[in-house]
Amino acid sequence: MTAVHDVAIVGAGLAGLRAATLLARAGRDVVVVEAQDEVGGRQRTDVVDGFRLDRGFQVLNPRYDALARAVDLADLDLRPFPVGVRVVRGARSDVLAHPVRHPGMLPATLAGALSGLVSPADAAGAARWLLPALVRPASVANGPDATLHEAWDRARLRGPLRRSVLEPFLTGVLADDGAGTSAVYATLLARLFALGRPGVPADGIAALPQRLAALARSAGADIRLSQPVRGIDVRADRVEIGVAGGDAVSAREVVVAVGGEAVAGLIDAPAPAMRGLQTWWFGADAGAPASALLAVDGERSGPIVNSVVISRTAPGYAPSGRHLVAASCLLRDGADEAAVRAQLARMWGGEAAAWELARRDDIPHALPALGPPMRHPSPVRLSERVVVAGDHRETPSIAGALVSGERAAAAVLGQG
Ligand SMILES: Cc1cc2nc3c(=O)[nH]c(=O)nc-3n(C[C@H](O)[C@H](O)[C@H](O)COP(=O)(O)OP(=O)(O)OC[C@H]3O[C@@H](n4cnc5c(N)ncnc54)[C@H](O)[C@@H]3O)c2cc1C
Repeated sequence: MTAVHDVAIVGAGLAGLRAATLLARAGRDVVVVEAQDEVGGRQRTDVVDGFRLDRGFQVLNPRYDALARAVDLADLDLRPFPVGVRVVRGARSDVLAHPVRHPGMLPATLAGALSGLVSPADAAGAARWLLPALVRPASVANGPDATLHEAWDRARLRGPLRRSVLEPFLTGVLADDGAGTSAVYATLLARLFALGRPGVPADGIAALPQRLAALARSAGADIRLSQPVRGIDVRADRVEIGVAGGDAVSAREVVVAVGGEAVAGLIDAPAPAMRGLQTWWFGADAGAPASALLAVDGERSGPIVNSVVISRTAPGYAPSGRHLVAASCLLRDGADEAAVRAQLARMWGGEAAAWELARRDDIPHALPALGPPMRHPSPVRLSERVVVAGDHRETPSIAGALVSGERAAAAVLGQG
């Protein structure tokens, strides 16, 4: 007779790992069943020819409250990016950096703003858009919602700051330029970008799930890798979890913490729309551009929405004497290497033509779409024995995944 565990968790992404830690700490007998050969889900890092390649460029914002609740940030050895962007428009390149965090870049930032990037009308519009979120985030969170484009229109933010800076920047973050995304969500996210200093762990984005897995294991959770769940059978007294090529797992309750693309295949829950991203990773020699700023193409002259010499911020991403450049696109723009290289040359200079392609990551299910109105938290308990977690239940982000894991654990513990 096989053991009946207290809780089985399907999926060892951030949501599943966070739920596992909390449940194991509360004394529950927890088994995590993960299809892949490593934990992390959408947060994986591979070492390729000495480069650390995250599976798609992403950043961690230490201002996420849920992150600070889940791990000791010092354990991640975060390398913060400068808070600002380099905006390329044709032959022009201008800097807009946080004036307080980077006073040394103030002259360049003033010159950039006065170059036509930030008109007085834009500055006033940006203040109308973002100030309420900076001073009264709760009232923005609970207020009316629309698309981000509608919110910008309402704030009369219509000039180059929107078109050449905010739209390309947020496209890389939301996998959408704002036309389909909840303004409440995007505005609160922009607030965190203004207040925090996003970065990457020195050893790659996978440091976060690795740390979460270590915490879950030390609390007693059993994490089983390479165990793809093919079906969940809910019975009167337990749940039977069928594993392809492995032993079934029995538990009193299941937390289904798979990504949005997989959830409807396992339980009776809607499949959220997902958005795709594509990251091109290039190896460059020691003479790579010196700027650590994220570069955006203010003219949207090609598929790239942002690009960064990531090893200028996190040197461990490249072997000694080399540099690593990330260039991110929307996946729907296809995979046209010639167009990517031509745009990179416009953004970084002709030397980009010689950069060596290390890998291209196509991620069709990168982020769940979150349109207006931003829903109130989706219920986590679907039935007596089934609880659901994952960023698609909260917000499309690291914070959303972690919060959903917390809510799932609370539901199992009868606190939700
Ligand atoms: C390219 C990219 C850029 C991003 N940028 C940012 C960013 O800058 N900032 C930010 O906050 N967020 C960003 N995100 C989002 C963030 O990575 C995710 O929100 C978060 O990792 C989701 O975690 P999760 O646990 O909800 O889901 P997942 O990570 O998808 O985990 C689900 C797990 O379930 C497993 N699974 C699925 N089916 C089965 C099955 N049948 N049996 C067993 N296991 C199964 C999967 O293998 C996976 O490990 C980005 C994501 C991508 C892809």
